[in-house]
Amino acid sequence: MSTISHNLQAVDASIVAAADAARRPRASISLLAVSKTFPPAAVIEAVGAGQRAFGENYLQEALDKIAALAAALPEVPLAWHFIGPIQSNKTRPIAAAFDWVHTVERLKIAERLSEQRPAGLAPLNICLQVNISGEASKSGAAPAALPELARAVALLPNLRLRGLMAIPEPETDPARQRAAFAAVRRLYEQLRAEGHALDTLSMGMSGDLGAAIAEGATMVRIGSAIFGARHYD
Ligand SMILES: *Cc1c(COP(=O)(O)O)cnc(C)c1O
Repeated sequence: MSTISHNLQAVDASIVAAADAARRPRASISLLAVSKTFPPAAVIEAVGAGQRAFGENYLQEALDKIAALAAALPEVPLAWHFIGPIQSNKTRPIAAAFDWVHTVERLKIAERLSEQRPAGLAPLNICLQVNISGEASKSGAAPAALPELARAVALLPNLRLRGLMAIPEPETDPARQRAAFAAVRRLYEQLRAEGHALDTLSMGMSGDLGAAIAEGATMVRIGSAIFGARHYD
């Protein structure tokens, strides 16, 4: 068995264990394989092991990889998730090539993604990125700004607001990991209580997926535990 398929099995076992511990069904958690910095051959191996959803951070690298996979495996439908920072002059290719964007933190970007989503494609799935660590992180909307942002994004015709995404500050203590994820979950529940039909809580990476699942993550974004250490980032 290849290293990647072996790693995918190990990650799946970790998800199963965390789901069991949280008394949640395994099927309530999906795995996004973060393939940034790894070549198309690595994605092809993961597809061979059954993985279908991939996350990418760097636009040009991602566009090349999406084209390479469409050429290599034209019959296999893959879901591509953009999970990197978005510059406003790069929204058009993101709107055209991706199925999901996890890193929307201001309305201007959402408006451009909606305007630029090509006719004939399904609405682009959106998670709002929330800055849960305050000043320690510059990415993401402030929690206090979320209700208004969510209301405005929900009105855009070519987007479908699915939920929240967060990248808490790296933390090795499981209790502290959980506290940060619990804060994200409260914001998610608050938006749902305000009437948004959300189903996606995108949180948890290789180092903290157990804590994220304990606090309700529905999608974990796993890179190095599947593909190995990255040599650049
Ligand atoms: C790189 C990255 C991941 C995956 O991180 P690992 O620690 O390799 O699992 C997840 N989410 C985002 C936003 C990333 O940039």
